[in-house]
Amino acid sequence: MTTRKLYYQDSYRTRFKAQIVDRVRQEGLTAVILDQTCFYPTSGGQPFDRGTINNVPVLNVTLREVDGAILHWVGEGDIWSDTIVADLDWTRRFDHMQQHTGQHILSQAFIQAAEAETVSFHLSEQTVTIDLEATTVKPEHIEYAEHLANQVIWQNRPVHIRAASVEEAQELPLRKIPPVREGKLRLIEIENYDLTACGGTHVNATGEVGMIKIVKLERSGTLLRVEFCCGQRALQDYRQKNSVVNRLTTMLTTGVPELVDSVTKLQLETKEARRTIKRQHNAMLQLEADTLRAQGKRKNNTIIITRVYPDTDSDPGQLRTLAGRLVKEDNVVALLGLAGEKSLLIFCRSSNAPGEMNQLIKPALQLLGSASGGGTAEMAQGGGPTANVERVEQAVARAERLLMGQL
Ligand SMILES: [Zn+2]
Repeated sequence: MTTRKLYYQDSYRTRFKAQIVDRVRQEGLTAVILDQTCFYPTSGGQPFDRGTINNVPVLNVTLREVDGAILHWVGEGDIWSDTIVADLDWTRRFDHMQQHTGQHILSQAFIQAAEAETVSFHLSEQTVTIDLEATTVKPEHIEYAEHLANQVIWQNRPVHIRAASVEEAQELPLRKIPPVREGKLRLIEIENYDLTACGGTHVNATGEVGMIKIVKLERSGTLLRVEFCCGQRALQDYRQKNSVVNRLTTMLTTGVPELVDSVTKLQLETKEARRTIKRQHNAMLQLEADTLRAQGKRKNNTIIITRVYPDTDSDPGQLRTLAGRLVKEDNVVALLGLAGEKSLLIFCRSSNAPGEMNQLIKPALQLLGSASGGGTAEMAQGGGPTANVERVEQAVARAERLLMGQL
């Protein structure tokens, strides 16, 4: 039940009549098989065509390998009549024709530029890529291949379709020889430039591809993935990038050639500013530590420091750093707290100072209504629920009283 492929002869045809020869139902979906079709099924790296059959949308088109039948998967709305009229989504079809013909041109350009063979092609709604067997492709090869491909487009060379037997094809300088099958091969020839076997849809002359732009390169082992765009997609890509670049030049009040320098300068300035902030922050912490030590209570040669900060002035990280600074010197016990949405207590002491921090932290946390906390004799901490400064100060005061008893 092979479907006659009208797109083989004329890829520009968008309306056709046909007979439904079979209907297939699978997992709640319906497909119709026609005696002939313009709808290209997903195959050879090219996605299917969209459109309508008797005004019912075509959601997917697949090729049934076993007999070559083309299945048109249709949306809601049954197609009752056996005679149908179908319309193709031309914008999508022409996009595929531009990208696919562009691929033939670029693949040949890479052979001429770097003897790099195309091993696979993939076309989706977002991207077009070819994978090159390319261990020795250099940046100048890429540039030359892109240049050559665009020359071929602007020379507006005719694109011919012809049929050849497998034996005939073996005598021809084909870029890609498909696995040998029965019957005729469909050859696509870009006049005096490229000859390959292909079942896809192409433009009649290379000028219709408009232009080719390589947009990304990705290496994976011996393969080089080349992402590119042709025609309408190249224009769309240019529009988008132009818009981004224009916004950036306005934001940075600079011209396009100076854009990279401007961003580099900004990055350096940001880095420098971060360093300055860090330096000043360190100095402030040191000052805070020195002040707290100077103001601390003294008992039996031990300096006892108590201090609670609102979370608008500090955070757990800063509090830990401050605690570390305070006990770097001898004979210090620091009982610090953080008030706010999540309260926090950090108790620590110099290694030569007295006091059991892990014993002090528990009763203090209890006052805050928390049981989660602990540590060692030198350093203990624990978090509590939301608490204001007064509440956390009460918790710290309880620990201080216990500590005074220990000294
Ligand atoms: Zn093709």
